[in-house]
Amino acid sequence: MPEFRQNMVSKEWVIIAPERAKRPDQFVQEKEGPKSLPSHQKDCPFCPGNESRTPPPVFSIERNGNWSLRVVPNKFAALQNHLTTERKHEGRFLKADGFGVAEVIVESRFHNRAIATMDLEEVRNTVLTYRERYVALSKVEQLDLITIFRNYGEKAGTSLEHPHSQIIATPIVPPHVRNPLYQSQLACDTFGNCIYCGMMEEEVDQEVRIVKKTEHFLVLCPFASRSPFEIRIYPKRHQSSFATISDPELNDFALVLQDTLKRLAIGLNDPDYNYIIRSTPIKDGEVRYHHWYLVIVPKLTTPAGFEIGTGIYINIAPPEQCAEFLRGIQIQ
Ligand SMILES: [Zn+2]
Ligand SMILES: [Zn+2]
Repeated sequence: MPEFRQNMVSKEWVIIAPERAKRPDQFVQEKEGPKSLPSHQKDCPFCPGNESRTPPPVFSIERNGNWSLRVVPNKFAALQNHLTTERKHEGRFLKADGFGVAEVIVESRFHNRAIATMDLEEVRNTVLTYRERYVALSKVEQLDLITIFRNYGEKAGTSLEHPHSQIIATPIVPPHVRNPLYQSQLACDTFGNCIYCGMMEEEVDQEVRIVKKTEHFLVLCPFASRSPFEIRIYPKRHQSSFATISDPELNDFALVLQDTLKRLAIGLNDPDYNYIIRSTPIKDGEVRYHHWYLVIVPKLTTPAGFEIGTGIYINIAPPEQCAEFLRGIQIQ
């Protein structure tokens, strides 16, 4: 039986419409995994030896005299950091210069690695760098929203194979980000605590959508998942800004992120995905009503006319089945 479900925070609706004959393993991808790529590709701008093809790094981690991670300004950035932030009116229309900061994190020297196949140290360096850059960009007065994300694979919007993630910081907080913040603020005014903390308690009680619990994190497929195998990783301790993640939490975050992406890669044969860290805007800082998290959206289906027209997503894979499938994956 199909059912409507509502996202507790954003109030958006989804339709969970399981197709009876189909089980989560229908989403196993037919493709060659990243292991079929070479460890070094001569014409890759992120491979060692081609450093001059990117702007100089703004941050790097070295090991034995070589870089093992580099953060470089995005050469093909949609936004530039030398413009003004002033809003301008053109008749009734509003615009502003495309001010912002766009950086690429090159996470490994090896062309053919991914978070799921890296050394744990590389994953740790990656999430440590997320915090470093998040904190550094938080100090830029004009910026207000820092988005850290990964596009993995062509369906997720990248043609670059070399392991990398991106940071885009903007002076604008869009309605897509602000509306859930309003909703969580209203909920906090009403109930006196963080709606995400409450949701996590409920998920732990109900158990069916939990993928994994670690000392500091909870991994789950959300109740109102918009697409098959949507996964969220929440810090257990209440914290609204990613800037406040502690060192022990950061270590656990590396472990849990790799574990989750291994489950996806093993279970569904390396699907393409986007992941995004959603944190409060910089100027909101550490607040009671919001809770940062990382969301993983595997690219297994394509939003079509109904989704685009209504914002109501039809999801053919119940999150309870997806969580059960992911819990059952054996990690080597
Ligand atoms: Zn490369
Ligand atoms: Zn919370």
